[in-house]
Amino acid sequence: MTETTVASRSLAVAEGPPIPDTMSAAVYRGKDDVRLEEVSVPEIGPGEILVRVHTCGICGTDLKKISTGSHSAPRIFGHETSGVVARVGEGVSKFGIGDRVVVFHHIPCRNCFYCRTKTFAQCETYKRVGCTAGFEPSGGGFAEYVRVMDWIVEGGTVPIPPGVGFEQACFVEPVNTCMKGIENLRLRRGETVLVIGQGPIGLILAVLAKRAGARVITSDLYPARLTISARFGLDLTIDASRSDTVRTVREMTEGRGADAVMLAVAGSALVRPAMDATRPGGRVLLFAQTARGEVTIDPAAVCVDEKTLLGSYSASVDLQDESVKFVMNREMDLEQLISHCFPLHDSVEALKLAAHPQPDSMKIVIQPGTVGASGAPGVGALGSRAWEGRSL
Ligand SMILES: [Zn+2]
Ligand SMILES: [Zn+2]
Repeated sequence: MTETTVASRSLAVAEGPPIPDTMSAAVYRGKDDVRLEEVSVPEIGPGEILVRVHTCGICGTDLKKISTGSHSAPRIFGHETSGVVARVGEGVSKFGIGDRVVVFHHIPCRNCFYCRTKTFAQCETYKRVGCTAGFEPSGGGFAEYVRVMDWIVEGGTVPIPPGVGFEQACFVEPVNTCMKGIENLRLRRGETVLVIGQGPIGLILAVLAKRAGARVITSDLYPARLTISARFGLDLTIDASRSDTVRTVREMTEGRGADAVMLAVAGSALVRPAMDATRPGGRVLLFAQTARGEVTIDPAAVCVDEKTLLGSYSASVDLQDESVKFVMNREMDLEQLISHCFPLHDSVEALKLAAHPQPDSMKIVIQPGTVGASGAPGVGALGSRAWEGRSL
């Protein structure tokens, strides 16, 4: 960028309360290496806004990128972002300084081959990330300020209504991805569905499956998580630490297996059990298998038993309104899924905890917009305790 563009840009910007030149951010420096650093507050251009981040959820995909080093460094991750508009670029009329918003970081073109076939996550425009706190655009929510680019301001920025907290609002994107999963699974009313893993994502998937009219069975290795599921009305639970999930599901379905299974636990170890828990002719949705690798499956389960393996990744622009309504109307008290709130200062610790989940650590959020005591994470509705777990 030339100096002239910078100058003309700052002239074009409507100034709000003073914004510092630099800010803190959790910067990804390579595989398993995230550091709290001081970086420049991003400049914005015409059609763009600057959002002061209040809350940003940690997503399994952030953790995957950090732990595998799959992406070039440096980057600032974080894409489940809610906050307050701090600056608006020239020509922005939809939003003003002080507006509370939640931002999507990807929005498809709606025009290309993939958009026309409704596989939005494969669209080249969709793959361009439209929110950044600096470096290669990667979401930027793990920083004090995030620059929202013009096409996201247009199509991917959503106002937060009065009475809805930033913590509830930051679930719009994860809820959208779960709604897309339910849609891809083509769930029909009255079907029995097993959701393996009752971390926050598994729990949202289960609630949405129930909302779609399915009979929902949930399973997890940690009884504490099943207790939380029960609080959301999911009372058919299997404690996988004590009983065999596949056998129990068969017992609950006249020996057949579930009509559909959703796998919300990362890694490949449970792909085979998920297929075994499905009835002949049933469907299995891989929702947490974001890391490339290889897995052994029984090909006859697909051919002879006619089981279908499906996947779903990221959000659908077609479900944006529905996901926004679901979250903003508080159809589900999503804030209850937050077990830990960390100030930005402790974001490295927050990411570590998220990468090694505990049975009653659920959704972990970073809150650049709050001042917390260093080293003392805020504890959300669910409390905290140290254990090992891995459900998404
Ligand atoms: Zn996410
Ligand atoms: Zn497209």
